[in-house]
Amino acid sequence: MKLVKTKQEVRDTVKEWKKQGLTVGLVPTMGYLHEGHASLIDASVKNNDRTVVSIFVNPMQFSPNEDLESYPRDIARDSEVCGEHGADLIFNPEPEEMYGDMFCSYVDMDVLTKELCGLSRPIHFRGVCTVVSKLFNIVTPDNAYFGQKDAQQLAVIKRMVEDLDMNIKINGCPIVREADGLAKSSRNTYLSAEERRAALILSKTVNLGRSMIESGERDTEKIVSAMVKNIETEPLAKTDYVKIVDALTMQQIKTIDRPALCAMAVYIGKTRLIDNFEVV
Ligand code: AMP
Repeated sequence: MKLVKTKQEVRDTVKEWKKQGLTVGLVPTMGYLHEGHASLIDASVKNNDRTVVSIFVNPMQFSPNEDLESYPRDIARDSEVCGEHGADLIFNPEPEEMYGDMFCSYVDMDVLTKELCGLSRPIHFRGVCTVVSKLFNIVTPDNAYFGQKDAQQLAVIKRMVEDLDMNIKINGCPIVREADGLAKSSRNTYLSAEERRAALILSKTVNLGRSMIESGERDTEKIVSAMVKNIETEPLAKTDYVKIVDALTMQQIKTIDRPALCAMAVYIGKTRLIDNFEVV
């Protein structure tokens, strides 16, 4: 497995692979890899001849008040994880390699990005769409792999690929959780022991919402209100949002009468965590 820092090295490597008729999978990440990321690498390795993992903490998707500087980084450990899981190439560029001094072109999206995390993080999805487009152009993969953990991001990327006629298959992979239910996240490292315990309120609330729907409840206001109340039982937790939206448009719905997404963002202390479940 090779680690490269420049776009040219990626292009040269992929060109060689394509000459040999090999298929390429891409797993875009911000690094500090855990089993959630590893599951995406596994899916790519299984279904493609070659797998590229990008590791890039993308400044463009962070607002000035967010955790760009403190975001955890450990490229040595990440390289081991990629190697163990059979990745072929790590692309780990510096911000200057991705964004030159003159950079001023963006990929933006309406509708889907104006709800859920897009409300609390207004520039986030513009940064995500722009960097993912660039990665798609650099790597030219056949397949790309994204986690259901970031369900809105997955929906946004699927929409972007469709709207902009990108010839790449987007594959969604299930949420990987800790044994006690907490969704794995690089940001879990921010939590103190007490906060780590409190963070369980997210998955517990997911389970509550899911069980209400399984029992036949279809009124989203009732489900959301029970879920918010449940979050409020945890003193260290502060709800950012709990919403039930149409799975394709990310717009709120009153009744669950179509494929839907129930998504939440909750602050545990200063750390903002997300979780969700699909209703199919
Ligand atoms: P990140 O490094 O947080 O930007 O995540 C990179 C990719 O890994 C995204 O597609 C995430 O949705 C995915 N991912 C992160 N955490 C998990 C998880 N717990 N289970 C599945 N996929 C995940």
